Amino acid sequence: MTVGIWVLGDQLWQGQSAIASRKTDKSNTPIILIESIGYGKERRYHQQKLVLIWSAMRHFAKELEAEGWQVTYEIADTFEAPLERWIEQNNLDELRVMEPADRPFVDRLNALSLKCEIVQTPNNHFLWSTAEFESWATRKSLLMESFYREGRKRFDILMDGKKPVGGQWNFDKDNRKPPKGKISPPEPLRFKPDTITQTVMEMVQTADYSTFGESNGFAWAVTREQALQVLDDFVCDRLVTFGPYQDAMVTGQDTMWHALLSPYLNIGLLQPMEVIEAVVSAYEAAADSDHPIPLNSVEGFIRQVLGWREYMRGIYNHVDEDYPSRNYFEHIHSLPDFFWTGETSLNCLHQTIDTLKRTGYAHHIQRLMILANFSLIAGLSPQAVEDWFHAAFIDGYDWVMQTNVIGMGLFADGGVLATKPYASSANYINKMSDYCQGCRYDNKARTGDDACPFNFFYWDFLDRHREKLSSQGRMNFILKNLDRMTEEELSTIRQLALRWHEDS
Ligand code: FAD
Ligand code: SF4
Repeated sequence: MTVGIWVLGDQLWQGQSAIASRKTDKSNTPIILIESIGYGKERRYHQQKLVLIWSAMRHFAKELEAEGWQVTYEIADTFEAPLERWIEQNNLDELRVMEPADRPFVDRLNALSLKCEIVQTPNNHFLWSTAEFESWATRKSLLMESFYREGRKRFDILMDGKKPVGGQWNFDKDNRKPPKGKISPPEPLRFKPDTITQTVMEMVQTADYSTFGESNGFAWAVTREQALQVLDDFVCDRLVTFGPYQDAMVTGQDTMWHALLSPYLNIGLLQPMEVIEAVVSAYEAAADSDHPIPLNSVEGFIRQVLGWREYMRGIYNHVDEDYPSRNYFEHIHSLPDFFWTGETSLNCLHQTIDTLKRTGYAHHIQRLMILANFSLIAGLSPQAVEDWFHAAFIDGYDWVMQTNVIGMGLFADGGVLATKPYASSANYINKMSDYCQGCRYDNKARTGDDACPFNFFYWDFLDRHREKLSSQGRMNFILKNLDRMTEEELSTIRQLALRWHEDS
């Protein structure tokens, strides 16, 4: 039987299950990678995402060839034509593909009508298989915290026998330091584009389809070797301070102490367990030295990769198919233009979108408490917001976007994964960033000409959804503050919110 392997653009790892299943039969197993321009046209993407994927695919094809595989690399409008041609040329009986992480791509694969059998091998880019997650998810409460603790035990990460190292599961309270004084995170590791990357950059910059952002400053890793350097750089230089400033935002500091690993984890250049092991090994090695790595930084990071990342993917596969179209608050406003241009006098949004346009990246708190928070309280359509996130981020994929945007960011799922909406006024942004200092709005004012839109939208949101929110027990305290507001102030707030939409 002749078997060929189709490697998708987010499966660039030699250990992925389809490739691994034939590693002892390389010379009889043709491999194909297809750079589909048509796929890039189906929706808008950040230029740097297109460059990352296509350059990483081209580099990976060369890596496979150097390992003795026979590789075909196609640049085409659609997947179907090159696949059919290649299947015929190689007289294949079976096309083997690792199960795509994104459900729409699984559907696309299942709909293909080819002259050979399509066999999907289990996706091994995650620590929990879908079946394992489903078996965990038979319980009543699907809280991330319980899932995370189960993961710590299951994979024996930061465990001291049956107890967590340090006697606690969670050090979040040590990881919310506001950015006071001089904040100087290390420069992120940057890579000069090689000739392959430059060719892709030119192609993307001269494309006749719509893209987002700029690719001139592209400096991301495009090979596994480079991605491992980024991991090493994080462990050596950034991990120590990752914890305390995890939630802080500072003008001009695009990355703070964040790891910058999601673009690589999401396309297979790095694997979650090797990232976790690198961090735990560094923690253990430094434990008795003069420079130990604080446990709150280490645990805070492990929680993200072993906890949140696996949990979001598990929930994505667990929920019903209507999940992406959910709209709990029935929000319908379209996106203001500044989401695309970055040109807005709301400084926190301007700074975040400006960074995004230049790099394709914004860190977690900018995503959650600036972009998603604004979208939630201003009542923007969850589906329009998710589309925009897809276009704007270098690490955006269906499996990770849906639960993060529809669920965590916008609470459009009505609370499947968050116990209350992440809604906040300017108070939080002022506490955790320096953005308000450079803003034309008054972060303290909720009415008047200088009132910060985060303030009037926040109170307007609570007022509009009082009934739905009162069923979320954790909102009752804040709703009591709404009750204390005079009808006159509330009415001004409603008008400000309305006028803002009319004017934008
Ligand atoms: P760090 O802050 O250093 O965290 C380390 C790693 O933990 C990340 O690389 C990532 O792999 C993982 N991680 C942490 N939180 C999450 C999470 N909530 N879900 C999944 N993985 C997580 N992540 C994406 O990979 N792609 C997205 O498109 C994406 N969209 C998001 C949209 C919203 C509204 C929100 C609130 C979060 C989103 N996230 C997304 C999750 C998270 O913000 C990013 O993974 C993280 O900011 C990536 O940067 P980093 O590698 O520097 O992460
Ligand atoms: Fe953002 Fe309001 Fe602060 Fe301006 S004042 S930076 S709009 S929170």
